[in-house]
Amino acid sequence: CICAAYLFGGLAKDRIAARYWRASLIDPLTGVRNRRGFLQAGERLMVRTRFAHRPAALLLFDLDRFKSINDRFGHRAGDAVLVAFCQLATSLLRPTDLFGRIGGEEFAILLPDTARQDALLLAERLRAAFEAIAHKVAERILTATVSVGVAISDDASSDLAALLDVADQALYRAKALGRNRVELSTHSPQSPSARQASGQAAA
Ligand code: GH3
Ligand code: MG
Ligand code: MG
Repeated sequence: CICAAYLFGGLAKDRIAARYWRASLIDPLTGVRNRRGFLQAGERLMVRTRFAHRPAALLLFDLDRFKSINDRFGHRAGDAVLVAFCQLATSLLRPTDLFGRIGGEEFAILLPDTARQDALLLAERLRAAFEAIAHKVAERILTATVSVGVAISDDASSDLAALLDVADQALYRAKALGRNRVELSTHSPQSPSARQASGQAAA
């Protein structure tokens, strides 16, 4: 009896720990992967993609002037817009694609086995579909837009951190050029060893 009690107690503890661990990877507001969950699954996906010598694309999204949506319509309306963006994004993705909320109003999609043309098509489709949604908030209608930076890894050498870096530069350009647009990165993502070398050279 005592052995059985220890055994079941141990199993229950493991189950609770596994539940907490899974919850730590999910964003409670939207139910999608949080930054940690996205990076963890994304690294694994990139390893498989590199191993298979397949291209991958990263789309980085930042909702436009989101602070002003909160200011004008309230924080709960802002929350509803975040949830709507997640629902729209996940509805457009393949089961193998990875989506996550990596910051307050920032999201990322990692598309394995996807070349530039298809990545740009999806980015533009999502941008246009989000702009077209009329969010109803307390009898008022609000619309929101998103800017997108796109990075492509086609040399099978870059890692997720490198893709995020170059997608971020493209996103910055999308913001600077007026927002509500998709920009493709003009830089090649660096391989981990090249990044390390340039870091050492700069130091
Ligand atoms: P930009 O077009 O340059 O991206 O402008 P922005 O206003 O979107 O950017 P900024 O970084 O100034 O503001 C982001 C805002 O996102 C501020 C913050 O209050 C809001 N935000 C972050 N997380 C949440 C959240 O969970 N819910 C709500 N409602 N707002 C959030
Ligand atoms: Mg932001
Ligand atoms: Mg923003």
